[in-house]
Amino acid sequence: GTKTDTLLQTDGLVKRFGGFTACDHVDFSVDEGELRCLIGPNGAGKSTLLKLITGTHAASEGSIYYDGHDITDLEPHERVNRGISMKFQVPSVYGELSVRENVLLPIQRFADGAERRRRVDEALAAAGLDGRGDVKASTLSHGQQQQLEIGMAASLDPDLLLLDEPVAGLDVEERNEIAERVTRLNEERGIAFVVIEHDTEFVADIADHVTVLHQGGIFREGSISEVEADPEVKRIYLGG
Ligand code: ADP
Ligand code: MG
Repeated sequence: GTKTDTLLQTDGLVKRFGGFTACDHVDFSVDEGELRCLIGPNGAGKSTLLKLITGTHAASEGSIYYDGHDITDLEPHERVNRGISMKFQVPSVYGELSVRENVLLPIQRFADGAERRRRVDEALAAAGLDGRGDVKASTLSHGQQQQLEIGMAASLDPDLLLLDEPVAGLDVEERNEIAERVTRLNEERGIAFVVIEHDTEFVADIADHVTVLHQGGIFREGSISEVEADPEVKRIYLGG
């Protein structure tokens, strides 16, 4: 059939930091194998929403369903085991370690022996860094470090991969490289993505469907062209 199944669903999801509501009754859903972009002005609650999904933040209210199960109260590592993986906004590559040693960090907890070697090779390939395993990670360009982090997140065999600003500060060539890696992981391995990104060309390159967050809530959903043409969306970006 042509029916696609819902992979992720949040139901009235709320996150408060003291008296401030960063995520305000959000009903957000992602289909299996979908590639979704999440946009919105600074402070809209994008990173917070992804951190609620990974379990980095505990929800104040509401529920998160993944693959038909309520995962609201699961620990972060249990969510990783279920297939949710994330590249955070803050870089988490260890510059003093080699590229291969960085790749090993997440993998070693999940695999050993031949399986571990296979996953390391696969992560290096997914990152576009085959042959660069033995160089110090600090010698990689900023773009290559982003690729490395995406490869590391993908090495956990996720069904859902969350990327927080993977092309911030990159040049066009590096941005296109990341777009191609993400598209390939989506098409070849069927990994669903939620990607936070401001760069509209990048967003248009990778995603059909965009969710706009504003003041902690879903403001619009639609195609990138619909959303870009919406004067209300322009207004919130200008701080109105
Ligand atoms: P975005 O990623 O869309 O720029 P964030 O999700 O990082 O926005 O933040 C949303 C709002 O929540 C911001 O006003 C931010 O200051 C606030 N916030 C985020 N994390 C925390 C925290 N750990 N403690 C207090 N306030 C936070
Ligand atoms: Mg953010």
